[in-house]
Amino acid sequence: MKTLYVKTFFIWSTSSKKLVKNERVTVEYAADLPSLRYGSAFPKLARGKATDVTSIDDERIHPFNLNNLIHAKDSLFQIIQKRGENISGITAPWVYAGMLFASFCWHVEDMYMYSINYMHKGAAKTWYCIPESHKEAFDDAIKEKHCELFIERPDLLYNIILTMNPLELLKKNIPVYRTEQQPREFIITFPKVYHAGFSHGYNISEAVNIAIPDWIPFGKLALSDYASEGFLKKGSFPFEWIIIENIKRLSEFNFSPQAKKEIAQVYIEIMQKEIKDRKAVQECYSKVAIKQFGDVTTRYDAHICSTCNNYTFLSFLSCGRCKRTGCIQHISVCDCLNVIVSMNVRFSEKNLEDFSHSVQKFLGTL
Ligand SMILES: [Zn+2]
Ligand SMILES: [Zn+2]
Repeated sequence: MKTLYVKTFFIWSTSSKKLVKNERVTVEYAADLPSLRYGSAFPKLARGKATDVTSIDDERIHPFNLNNLIHAKDSLFQIIQKRGENISGITAPWVYAGMLFASFCWHVEDMYMYSINYMHKGAAKTWYCIPESHKEAFDDAIKEKHCELFIERPDLLYNIILTMNPLELLKKNIPVYRTEQQPREFIITFPKVYHAGFSHGYNISEAVNIAIPDWIPFGKLALSDYASEGFLKKGSFPFEWIIIENIKRLSEFNFSPQAKKEIAQVYIEIMQKEIKDRKAVQECYSKVAIKQFGDVTTRYDAHICSTCNNYTFLSFLSCGRCKRTGCIQHISVCDCLNVIVSMNVRFSEKNLEDFSHSVQKFLGTL
């Protein structure tokens, strides 16, 4: 439960029957409740079985039931087949129970994904949003307003705890759009779009992220932004994982030819970068032991970099002395003298190149 203290609001006094100024009221917001733990407000099929479904209008299988969105055509999350692979809040919805003035602070989605929010029941919710074109202007404005806080906590924006009056943003020529979400309405936020808002009374909503092929450039951009800020924020999942798993099943899923092309092109970029980074490591050290790690069952989050805290999906370096591990692009993982370096790879360079050739061939047939 999130608690927000709001000062100097006017509230309705039942005794005097008029608006009175209240010094302090408490607003509570049950936010980010994982549906996998507390349940979804959408109906779900018992153990995933569809034997008793007689109509396409059955809400349990409806494509806009947020639990089913990962199976949508062109969703990059179609690769998630089992409950255990779901990423809470990203591929499996979170539920929100709000009250009057329950607010969500300015934020963009993790890895600049799309989000979709459905209000099941209750009072309206006001949403404010800022176009993607003004994301950097907003970053500058909020950092200027809260400059002292940012010195202490440079990762503040990622904690979704900062408010700023939309009027102040408009004065700085930052466009702010607003809308009111009513029950049974969806709000979709686009990549890199800041949004914030508040509830007008009690309500229940549910939200999840969406990743489709046109998100791919934004995913890449988010990761480079996180890196340029000194890894203040960690990606919610390895970008390479989602692309490679989709590449493996490209013929299985019903993607459009354009979508297949975008996935295949980014795969080739990932492969080329990986091979280049591996070569750079080998040139840096006189001896690097190359070891294969994992198999098809090894999860995407099995290893984490001790420098940037990100998942190391394709490969990682490890020090034989201090056992620290890290991404290969950092080149060095520790300060040990006479370091003994191992480069641990999920796929051999030959596997990567063979795969790259077959993808290029596939691109030629589109
Ligand atoms: Zn790293
Ligand atoms: Zn070491």
